[in-house]
Amino acid sequence: MSDPLFRRLTLIGIGLIGSSLARVVRREGLAGEIVISTRSPQTLARAEELALGDRYCLDAAEAVEGADLVILCVPVGASAAVAKWIAPALAPGAIVTDVGSTKASVVAQMQPHLPANVHFIPGHPIAGTEYSGPDAGFAALFENRWCILTPVEGTDPAAQEKLSAFWRGCGSNIDVMDPDHHDLVLAITSHLPHIIAYNIVGTADDLQTVTKSEVIKYSASGFRDFTRLAASDPTMWRDVCLHNKDAILEMLSRFSEDLSAVQRAIRWGDGQALFDLFTRTRGIRRSIIEAGQETDEPDFGRHHGEA
Ligand code: NAP
Repeated sequence: MSDPLFRRLTLIGIGLIGSSLARVVRREGLAGEIVISTRSPQTLARAEELALGDRYCLDAAEAVEGADLVILCVPVGASAAVAKWIAPALAPGAIVTDVGSTKASVVAQMQPHLPANVHFIPGHPIAGTEYSGPDAGFAALFENRWCILTPVEGTDPAAQEKLSAFWRGCGSNIDVMDPDHHDLVLAITSHLPHIIAYNIVGTADDLQTVTKSEVIKYSASGFRDFTRLAASDPTMWRDVCLHNKDAILEMLSRFSEDLSAVQRAIRWGDGQALFDLFTRTRGIRRSIIEAGQETDEPDFGRHHGEA
């Protein structure tokens, strides 16, 4: 068997993303040793019960000693504190990366703390579910999904290629972007849909006191599909909103303008405007299916009437 890409991988944070990485790294033999660190003894004990790693440490600094790859898998708001904690213990030449859903803020939080002799290459796998914690992860999470790397100025091309090879080993395709551009793209493709879902489910929940349980009872008419996004981890999404503030506010104001146009079309009975918009958006879904980022099964791939 060929040598693994990395001698020792340290995962800091072992929730959905960290534990999915641990599983795929083990399956694909991408690291010789997996060291796991997380904030709480309970989560660490669970990771050990699930046999996700080879060694388990509560102390993040101790966990990164001798690691040639360190991946932060914590909410983006914790990036600065973790970077500060691990910085003195990082091995020279180590690659330090993350999986956070915002990038400019992560760069600003981490870079000042990290020593010059490590390779800091931020990243973001565009893959996830609404579940959290070490039990939620699975090895196929990154299969055929994009992983965006947002290298900082002066990044060593060899280190970037090695990290790209790692993500390809996890099943992902690689894209490279400027952190600010990443934040703008993700604001519309991920952050806004979640905020809209949280908001619509919240509004309906307020109405529920009026309509009793009808919101739940008739949820299959559309509402249900928003509830999946709105069930996502509150800590993670609080941090995303706080750490991608400018791009999210920009996209929200565009969204509000377009919503006003729809409102106007409905008020004035402009059926053509509504029909044109709904036809255009249907085409977008078709392109997503053609790009292999969604199945073309009806009803969002729900399985009906089978065991
Ligand atoms: P998760 O399942 O909730 O796991 C979070 C992990 O971070 C846990 O190990 C938790 O430790 C630790 N943690 C939480 N708060 C912390 C803090 N203040 N300081 C240090 N550690 C802390 O989260 P996840 O879904 O894996 O998300 C992890 C990262 O991936 C986030 O930055 C998120 O933006 C990004 N991401 C998520 C998705 C998604 O769909 N979920 C997709 C792509 C990227 P304890 O349990 O020990 O407290």
